Amino acid sequence: MNTVLLKDTDEDIKKAAEIIKNGGLVGMPTETVYGLGANALNPKAVLDIFKAKGRPADNPLIVHISDVSQIEKFSLAEEIPEYAKILAEKFWPGPLTMIVKKGKAVPDEVSAGLDTVALRFPSHPVAQKLISFAGLPVAAPSANLSGSPSPTTPQHVMRDLKGKIPAIIDGGICNVGLESTVITLTENPPRLLRPGGITLEQLRDALGEVALDDAVLHKLKEGRRAASPGMKYKHYAPKANVTILKGGNRDFYDFVNANSHSNRAVICYDEDAPFIKGNKFLLGSKSDSAQQAHRLFDVLRQIDLNPEITAVYARCPDINGVGLAVYNRLIRAAGFEVKDLAEI
Ligand code: AMP
Ligand code: MG
Repeated sequence: MNTVLLKDTDEDIKKAAEIIKNGGLVGMPTETVYGLGANALNPKAVLDIFKAKGRPADNPLIVHISDVSQIEKFSLAEEIPEYAKILAEKFWPGPLTMIVKKGKAVPDEVSAGLDTVALRFPSHPVAQKLISFAGLPVAAPSANLSGSPSPTTPQHVMRDLKGKIPAIIDGGICNVGLESTVITLTENPPRLLRPGGITLEQLRDALGEVALDDAVLHKLKEGRRAASPGMKYKHYAPKANVTILKGGNRDFYDFVNANSHSNRAVICYDEDAPFIKGNKFLLGSKSDSAQQAHRLFDVLRQIDLNPEITAVYARCPDINGVGLAVYNRLIRAAGFEVKDLAEI
């Protein structure tokens, strides 16, 4: 199959909407990462998403809408909880996904057999237009091959899915750069399943108590069921072996410089660069978690493009605000390998 790169003009977005209406798949920009969209109400189109990505069948998809009224119009949710109304008012459109009891129109293929559904109203104008022009809710996971970092540019999508999907809309680089925040509203208090651009602090400000799922910061214990199935998979893993290093500047510089060799790379902050020998990838300023989020996946993909790099040391990010999401993705890239330099 030939994969065309469409522009973000109305004319091209309408072509992409036709593909979706006809049961096809489209790589689409959103403010978080690129999504691989299909008609959420068409089980065959949804199954094709799983095939193109090599996604495990038990990992459900997020359903994207371009207007809150579509939840009722398309019977996407059994009911809309009060918490959802508060969050929609504050954070939609935006990088927040809410899990609610699913409505009768949602195929089991979308929810991977669960009785809940994940809903998001993206703020990216191209995503909104695509959904509106198609006149359908759009199921879309990240547009990468399962196991590789989520795509934040159309080139990333091309690299992973060229020949497997008919079209990608070029909407430039994604603003947030990490996947959406996922919160479940099917229990009290609501629980954060995946951190993202909307922070735990913002959710607690809006709702009061919000629990933090264990899988956000820790590896799931053997045999425990993941509340968010996606959290149990080894995600975002570059081929090189990644280790996160916890510690102050001096300890970090001494350790990485003492262990420097040509096959080794360091992921660090801009401010660290002058003090580090050898191959380094900069995430942005130490105090700017949003910038670190924006760059992380591109850095992981750049590392993957360089076969000489076999080992990576990454500076442990600050876990406040969006930093919690950066840490959550980085520990998965590191297979949960974290070394505390103060203990050496
Ligand atoms: P992605 O589309 O790649 O951003 O992944 C979507 C994430 O949302 C995965 O981690 C899924 O496991 C999670 N998710 C989607 N639907 C549900 C649901 N009904 N309950 C819990 N987690 C969900
Ligand atoms: Mg994904």
